[in-house]
Amino acid sequence: MTTPIPFHAPTLSDLEKSYVLEALTSGKLAGDGPFTKRCHEWLNANLKSSHTLLTHSCTAALEMAALLCDLKPGDEVIMPSYTFVSTANAVALRGATPVFVDIRPDTLNIDEKKIEAAITSKTRALFIVHYAGVAAEMDTILALAKERRLKVVEDAAQGLMASYKGRPLGTMGDFGALSFHETKNIVSGEGGALITRDEAPAARAEIIREKGTNRSQFFRGQVDKYTWVDLGSSFLPSDLLAALLLAQLERAKEITKVRFTLWSTYHQELKPLESQGIGLPTIPKECEHNAHIFSLITKSLDERTKLISFLKELGIAAPFHYVPLHTSPGGKKFGRAHGDLSQTVDLSERLVRLPLFSTLTNQNQVVEAVLKFYGRRG
Ligand SMILES: *Cc1c(COP(=O)(O)O)cnc(C)c1O
Repeated sequence: MTTPIPFHAPTLSDLEKSYVLEALTSGKLAGDGPFTKRCHEWLNANLKSSHTLLTHSCTAALEMAALLCDLKPGDEVIMPSYTFVSTANAVALRGATPVFVDIRPDTLNIDEKKIEAAITSKTRALFIVHYAGVAAEMDTILALAKERRLKVVEDAAQGLMASYKGRPLGTMGDFGALSFHETKNIVSGEGGALITRDEAPAARAEIIREKGTNRSQFFRGQVDKYTWVDLGSSFLPSDLLAALLLAQLERAKEITKVRFTLWSTYHQELKPLESQGIGLPTIPKECEHNAHIFSLITKSLDERTKLISFLKELGIAAPFHYVPLHTSPGGKKFGRAHGDLSQTVDLSERLVRLPLFSTLTNQNQVVEAVLKFYGRRG
């Protein structure tokens, strides 16, 4: 007897319910209420940063970062093709061109050695993705950006509770973007945050997030009326969602710990498959990850298709991602590829993700099914 196993499920407790009820009862439903402030305090303390702003999504935080980089038509921004569409859309929305560079086969992050060759006189920024909460090679990337005077934006959508040489993901570049989407480790349904490293852009970020007005300064009594001062939009979430998020943040260590146990079990139990040519996740020694994704690299597209349907038959959801952006209609229209991106194309066809969420109680079913597919069970 097997019960269907979904790919993910949020980890909700009574704490989320009580905070949401408290927010509802208070009647303060707009953005920047008491729960948003408490989320900012938690994030600033845990990210060792002083400039974190909640947004309604990571997509919004990336769009804010693109505005803060002053991207304009004709500019180019280097990024991996193996990422979610929002990394590229933020750039394309400013009329700038995403330039796609290949990934490393071990971490599936942008290949830092291939960035320099893609830089032109039009390059303004590097948008770096930390896939699966495992950091890209940031020291190399930050040194190159400094030398070539490029901004660095970290798409740390998957990166809360992960670090690189002790530095939290999202806090190393000029700007960092986090996601609290339902599919991430720490969630508010939809949600995100923008992290700004330096003082001046942090002040500007506050304005951009409040429809281009200095309303936040007005509420702090720093100006006697508020007015339109810069480009902007409404990027802030309702305090109701911040209430849900605060509970998740306060439980972040506990949630991450459970995910780690599951991740490590997969790694240990499926390790024998390496001798059959199946790839398991690689974590470089500089990186402390957050057990966001457990993926396998199968030997071929055909094998992956067969594995996914085999698992589906057994009620186990095992999806893959991403369709490389440079091969997508949007990527062809708004971006351009640098080089052949052979790793991106190859690995995107062979990667499969296994169910991983903190309430996964029947992980053994998944392990047994995968081992069976590879002929290691009767
Ligand atoms: C999830 C994700 C996003 C988008 O996050 P939202 O909060 O849904 O906008 C962007 N980039 C990457 C790499 C992601 O994984």
